[in-house]
This record gives sequence, C-alpha cells and structure tokens, in this order.
Amino acid sequence: MTLQQHLDKLIEDRRQELVSLTQDLVRFPTINPPGEAYTPCARYIGKRLEKSGFEVQFIRGENTPGDSDQYPRTNVIARREGKRQGVTVHFNSHIDVVEAGEGWTFDPFAATIHGEKIYGRGTCDMKGGLATSIIAVESYLVANPGFAGAIEISGTVDEESGGFGGVAYLAHKGFFSKPRIDHVIIPEPLNKDRICLGHRGVWWAEIETKGEIAHGSMPFLGDCAVRHMAEVIYRFEQQLFPKLDKKTTRMPVVPEGARSSTLNFNAIHGGQGDNFSGLPSPTVPHSCRLTIDRRFLIEEPLAEVKQEVVAILKKLKAERPKFDFEIRDIMEVLPIMSEPDAPVATAVANAIREILHTEPQYVISPGTYDQKHISRIGHLHDCIAYGPGILDMAHRPDEFIIIEDMIESAKIMALALHALLHPASLPGLAWVQNRFLRQ
Ligand SMILES: [Zn+2]
Repeated sequence: MTLQQHLDKLIEDRRQELVSLTQDLVRFPTINPPGEAYTPCARYIGKRLEKSGFEVQFIRGENTPGDSDQYPRTNVIARREGKRQGVTVHFNSHIDVVEAGEGWTFDPFAATIHGEKIYGRGTCDMKGGLATSIIAVESYLVANPGFAGAIEISGTVDEESGGFGGVAYLAHKGFFSKPRIDHVIIPEPLNKDRICLGHRGVWWAEIETKGEIAHGSMPFLGDCAVRHMAEVIYRFEQQLFPKLDKKTTRMPVVPEGARSSTLNFNAIHGGQGDNFSGLPSPTVPHSCRLTIDRRFLIEEPLAEVKQEVVAILKKLKAERPKFDFEIRDIMEVLPIMSEPDAPVATAVANAIREILHTEPQYVISPGTYDQKHISRIGHLHDCIAYGPGILDMAHRPDEFIIIEDMIESAKIMALALHALLHPASLPGLAWVQNRFLRQ
C-alpha cells in the first residue's frame, strides 16, 4: 500500500469521527459578537489534540476589542514535533461564528445530519474545515509517525470581527512568523477544488456632513446635513460608481462580480438618536454620517483609493454653499495575493489533482480573512486558504457542509502536509521551498 492509499483508508475509516467532531464543535455557540463560549470550545480542541500527542497552549487576547472576564478571547495553539528537523506546517481555523439570524428550518446549534449534510451555524464557516484539518493531521500521524519537522493546529477567535484578539494578537507575539512556522493553510470554505491565494483590499471610512440645528418648521433658519449628504451620494452615483465598475484586475476574484472595485454604504445616519421610539421631535439635523466600505484591487494604491473619494468631497465644498465635511478612517487592509507557484499552493494543487483528478482553480476572496495578519504582522507569505464547504453558504440560514467534501478535503490536506514536510517526495517542490525559505 502506498502512503496515499494508507492515508485515504485511515481518513475513510474516520468518517464517523469527523462527523461527530464537527457536530461537537458546532454545538459550542461561539457567536461573535459578543464572543460566546470561546473558552469551552478552545479547551475542547486542546484536550483532543493533547490526546494526539500535541503540546497545547491557551492564549488569551488580552485587552483586545471585546475581551473581558465575561467574554475572554481564548485561543488555542497545538504543536507536535516530528522525529527529525524540518519545516513547520500550520493549520489555522477561526472558532467564532456570526449570529444565526432569521430563516432557519434547522436548529442552528444542533448540528443536525440530514441526507449527506450537517446543518448548523459554522458548519461551513468554518468548524467543518477545522474538524477536517484535525482528522487529516491525526490520520497522518498514524500513517507516518516518523515525520520530519513539526505540525501545528490553532483555533483562533474573532475572525468575523477583524481577528484582533485572535490571529493578529498571536502574530504580534511571534506565533505566525519564521522560524517558528513556515507554511500556513487556513481551511476557510472556498470549495474543495479551489485554492485561495489572498483577498482584495478594504478601506472603511466615515464621512460626516455638517449642518446647523433649527426648528423643523423653519428649516431655512438652519442647515440640513442630510440634504448635504444626499448631494454626496448623488455625486458618488454620477462620478464614482461608474469609474469603479470599469476597473479591472489580474486577481482571479470570485464571485466574478467582485472582479472590479466595489463600494458599499454600510450605514447612514442623520438626525435624532439611533434608537428613538415614538415621534421624533422637529429638528434640522446638524450632522449626517455615512460609513463607506470600499473594496479595492492589487493594482490600486490605497492613497489613490482615498483620493478619489476626497476629491469629490473637496469639489463639493468649493461648489455647494455651506457644505462642510469630515472624513475619518475606520479600517484599512491592503490587498494580498500569494503566488500560485509558492510551496503551499504547489503542494495543495498537486494533492487536488491526485485526489479529485481535476485541475485546481486559483481564486481570490472578495472579502478579507485572517491571512492579512499572517502576512502583515507575521511577515509570513506562504499562506493560502483551502478547505471544504461552499463559500456561498457562509453566514446564511440553513448553513451546511457536505460530509463527503470534508472527507475528500481531509485526504488533500494530509497529502499536501506530507509533501511540505518531505519536499523531496514531490518533483519541483524542494526547489520552490528552498527558494521560499531563504526569503
Ligand atoms: Zn470564515
């Protein structure tokens, strides 16, 4: 029996275990915000990996957004050393999920099996992927106990809210840098035959238009900030959106609609309190705030992205009586794209061909995920997202994962893991890896 056949068999024999592990993970309602049940979920993962011979650490993202004694940001990192020196391969999954929301026909935290699928919040994004990577690694340890290098698995928090108490915190502490680790796979749900090389950039900003308070029955005595904002939106419609639609990129973003620049108005507010009840009193709004969510491409410098917006606002200020504005940055993340011939992408691509007998598809995510922190804070660039789960199911009601997809993905992860730890086993990989490790 070849190693691959042995791995396939070990993984298939663990089908039931993979299902119940996924169910156990989904049953921790790790909803973020506020960050429910992080500690018991992290402890559960740690306990399991300890049994598989891993050294386990729990690290709290202290004083990061949302961290409190009631909602501690508990992360788990597990490491298992091999028998010989070598590289370290790390599997990173986030354990938080978004709220269940409306429209479910299944109990979102029961992890019900129906047909060939498991239903529940986080099955797809991304506890199914986490369970898959654990089963892949545990099977590999049985098939090749004398492996070289080291293997790490982490369960981290807060990805859905920016990852500050999770991967970002750990990256600042050196957990996502060389020489501790060399290669990272993030089992986000990008579909079992796709390799995600990175993501578009993000710029969030708040634009505020200014006015002057007066009685609502005599608006001419004041100055309405909402009317000023209406003009801002009108000019964006006329001048900005058509320009963004025309931008093209070499990034293979999926879905295809995201293959140009986009802008969303995440929120708008003008006038009285966010949550008044009853009748609002008659007042001319002195302020109107608009949160813009601009997603940009690797070809666009961030300064230019900002300038396009600021130029429109400045022109308005010059042309429109009494118009005044402020603009505040909320968040910025640069676009990331690792190369398809880097070591992790090469090893996973080869494994996809072996297991699925199909050519892998290289994609870029429309939104960001924790790879940004690994790249920017950890300065580690050999990272991809690869995992089972259908991307479109993430954050939706009746989210599910297909059990067979997890099995196939586990085989792919195990095979890619072996190639990365023993590059001589895959033609061309050793050369790529050496070049990369020297960078
Ligand atoms: Zn996710």
